[in-house]
Parts: sequence; C-alpha cells; structure tokens
Amino acid sequence: MAAVGRVDVAVVGGGPAGAVTALLLARAGRHVAVYAQSRHEALRLDEAPPPSVNPLLRKLGLWDRFLADSGRLGPMVVEAAEQAGAKVLRGACVGKVSRSSTGLRIEADKPALAKMVVDATGRTARVARAFGAHCVPFEKLVCVARVFDISPESAGDTFIEAAPDGWWHVSPLPHRRRIISLFTDAQEAARSRLATVDGWTRAMARTEHVRDLASGVPCGKIRVTTSTSHELAPPVGEDWIAVGDAAFAVDPLSSDGVEFALRSAIGAAEVLLGGDRSAYRRQVADEASAYRRLRASRRVGQPLASRAETSRAVGIDGAAPSRSTEQDAAALA
Ligand SMILES: Cc1cc2nc3c(=O)[nH]c(=O)nc-3n(C[C@H](O)[C@H](O)[C@H](O)COP(=O)(O)OP(=O)(O)OC[C@H]3O[C@@H](n4cnc5c(N)ncnc54)[C@H](O)[C@@H]3O)c2cc1C
Repeated sequence: MAAVGRVDVAVVGGGPAGAVTALLLARAGRHVAVYAQSRHEALRLDEAPPPSVNPLLRKLGLWDRFLADSGRLGPMVVEAAEQAGAKVLRGACVGKVSRSSTGLRIEADKPALAKMVVDATGRTARVARAFGAHCVPFEKLVCVARVFDISPESAGDTFIEAAPDGWWHVSPLPHRRRIISLFTDAQEAARSRLATVDGWTRAMARTEHVRDLASGVPCGKIRVTTSTSHELAPPVGEDWIAVGDAAFAVDPLSSDGVEFALRSAIGAAEVLLGGDRSAYRRQVADEASAYRRLRASRRVGQPLASRAETSRAVGIDGAAPSRSTEQDAAALA
C-alpha cells in the first residue's frame, strides 16, 4: 500500500482526543495524518457526552454539526478533521513509532515520517510508554463483560447499578445485542473468579436490577479488559505529546473522559503550534490533583463498597448506546 510520506504531525488514535487535535492542527495549516484504527461502526456511550462538553464544542465551532449528526461525537469529529485537511486513515493500526535521523517513523500499513507524534491511543498510552513515559495508576479497575443476544422488543436503555464489588453498566449494542459489564477492582475480579461464567453469573445474580436485564442468549466468552485510571508521567516529550485518556484517564463512572479529551486536545494543539510544554504539563497535573482530591473526598474511587452505599441504581431513558470500550464490544462480538 502507498505510504503517507512526510507529515508535520502523526496522530495515533482517532477517538475524540486525537480527532480534535488533528482538526485544530489542520485548521492551522499543518500537514497531519490520523491513524484511526476504529471505523466507528459501533455506537459508543461517549457519543452522547455530558452537557459540560457543549461549551467546548461551541468553542471548537462544532456545535451545529454535532446537533446535525444526531449527537454522535466520534465520527463527527473525525469527519470535521478530514474536511479541515487532515489525512484520516480509517482502520489503520500503528504497530510502532521509532526515531530515525530523518524524523519519527510511523510503522503501519501506510507508513509515514513525522516531525511530531500525538499519542491518542486511549488508556493504553502505547506510544508514550514506548518513549519511556509511565502510567501512575489511581485505581486498578477492570471491566468484566458479557454480551447477550436479545429480542427486538427488549432493546432497552443504558443502565447503571452500584454494587458492593463495583458498578454494573448495561448498554444496548447494534444488531439486537446487549453488553453487561461489571467494573471492579482487579483483585476482586481474581478473588471472585469473575472471568468464569460461574463467577460472573454469581455476581450478576446478586444485583437488584441488572439480573433482570441479563435475559437472552449469551454470545461469546466473558472478557476482562483494563479500565485502570492513571496519570501519565510525563504527558509530553521532545517529539511526542499524549492527549485524552492516554494522558489522564479517570473512572468511567465520572463521565468526565470526553471533556478532558477535548480540553487536552486544545492544550496539545497549542503546544504543537509552538506553545509552552510546561503549561501542558501543568494542565495535566492540575487535572490529576483535582481527581485525587475528589477520590480522597470519597465521591469517586475507593473503597468501592462506600460508593455502593451512597449510590443508587440509575436508568438513563433513551440514552445513546453503547460503550464498554469499542474495542471490548468489537472483541466481544
Ligand atoms: C463504559 C464506559 C463508559 C463511559 N462513559 C462516558 C461518558 O458517559 N462520558 C464521558 O465523557 N466519557 C465516558 N467514558 C470515557 C470516554 O469514553 C473516554 O474518556 C474517551 O473516549 C477518551 O477519548 P480518547 O480519544 O482519549 O480515547 P479513545 O476514545 O479510547 O480512543 C482511542 C482510539 O485509539 C485507537 N488506537 C489505539 N491504539 C491504536 C494504534 N496502535 N493505532 C491506531 N489507533 C489506535 C483506538 O482504536 C481508539 O479508537 C466512558 C468509558 C467507558 C469505558
């Protein structure tokens, strides 16, 4: 396949953080390539982001477009970046990024040579970690999920229920399926053998509401994926910068991920257009400190049991489906 050739910036990951970074750089006339492994075929919960995101979408000039696209954030920002001039490589997975005397080699089906790379790979922070950054975890959360084939009339809504061992998340998936996930401590998942059908079913049977939604025919195996929250140290280097979940990831229950994805993309684009790296370091550090304070105040984070005491089951009528992570959903399909 043809190479992309030389670009100013290669963005690895086409989630909201990567797409918005690419959009801003393309608008500023930079030559940008986005390696977007996901084709946005599956619907995601963060495509119906919380209202706190609205002012940012207005600031980015994306508000009308967001409304016109029925509120699907993911594909909308990727298309906006493309129309602004970014080269979007859909379905393209970057295997490795390495330094050479001529620039950064982006190793993929369509390779590129870039001056700078943006790590927008989500919680894996794959590029930044390969360059020596490390993830400082807040909590070792895992997602243990199972997919069910359901009847058309029981398609249902997104639903969240607190439990002593974590929180349950139920979402409709395309093709008349439903994904039921338990977010819990890694140790608890091992202790209760949640990756086994028996362990998962036992935990699910203890729920008040979710057990009524686990009807239908289970399809695929139970899948465990990391959902660990972290701060990346450092979030920016000489020739790379991390955005969104790669730079700072929080418990999905907080619903803050997309907002930070957009804010970090704005901060990163400023750096890549010649701004101050230390301002970006401060931005990420400030977010992480605020999250630590929130955890210390016990509004999120450990112990999980105290969260259950203060939470109640919440059904979100008509909320857009569906997110465990889209990779989880794809892997589970
Ligand atoms: C169950 C659940 C519910 C959530 N609910 C909400 C919510 O209600 N509101 C909210 O604001 N946030 C929510 N979040 C969090 C939100 O989804 C994330 O914070 C947000 O998606 C982060 O955006 P991102 O662009 O940094 O990463 P992602 O959206 O994870 O995107 C990263 C992209 O990088 C791609 N990628 C990875 N490696 C490579 C590679 N090597 N080459 C090419 N591409 C690659 C992946 O395919 C992916 O598409 C939720 C998360 C979960 C798990």
